[in-house]
Amino acid sequence: MVAEDSRRRVNILGVAIDDVLEGEAIERVAGYIAAGGPHRVVTVNPEFVMEARRNAVFRQVLAAADMATPDGFGLLLVARWRGTPLRGRVTGVALAGQIAARAARDGWSIFLLGAAPGVAERAADELERAYPGLRVAGCHAGSPRPADEPGIRALIAQARPDVLLVAYGHPAQDLWIARNQPALGVPVAIGVGGVFDYLAGEVPLAPAWMRRAGLEWLYRLIRQPRRWRRILVAVPLFLWAALREPRPRS
Ligand code: UDP
Repeated sequence: MVAEDSRRRVNILGVAIDDVLEGEAIERVAGYIAAGGPHRVVTVNPEFVMEARRNAVFRQVLAAADMATPDGFGLLLVARWRGTPLRGRVTGVALAGQIAARAARDGWSIFLLGAAPGVAERAADELERAYPGLRVAGCHAGSPRPADEPGIRALIAQARPDVLLVAYGHPAQDLWIARNQPALGVPVAIGVGGVFDYLAGEVPLAPAWMRRAGLEWLYRLIRQPRRWRRILVAVPLFLWAALREPRPRS
């Protein structure tokens, strides 16, 4: 059974986001696995919201997700300002860690798809080290190109994971999941962005004080210059768009 206590959704610029905490999110994932599939989870940040405003297919994919977690401090700021606060963040990194922990305990298996060649394998090694007993059903870099889809689907169908983590960045990963999941027989698929890079140590996590202060985006900007343009454009535009939108009346 999926807990019914955490169903509240907050609408931010047309994207519905679940007001879930980490513990509730993992319970929902457990519910999805118990129920069978297919279920899709998206980890939303301001860049997702801005992409959804101009990309109708992505917007629909987000709207139809079974769970949309608030991964992104900007979402919490805007939600609070609009008088519809979200209680906390559920980042892709946190969700992947929680899933690995629960998977090791309950015998779920996971499949890591995406990132540069070798990164998913190193991420899996780190998870197996942190969570002894974890069953990794497979790792594959592949690519989000449609031509690669049949081969990847065959790999995953053979591995039969309970949870599929897809790291192709947004919107590619979430569109990939929406297109392919019906044919995979996987109970839960989650788009996780750069999570394998973090787990594999390709990109270090921001120091705890920066994460607490909501400054993870600043750290990522400093460490990953290729993200500069994207984030420097997306976050101010997101905040600007959110401030201009009339606040809901309660
Ligand atoms: N990636 C990939 N294939 C692609 C494009 C991206 O495997 O064609 C991977 C990339 O190596 C990285 C992740 O997708 O691990 C994107 O991470 P990012 O933090 O940029 O995700 P976003 O914030 O865009 O969701």
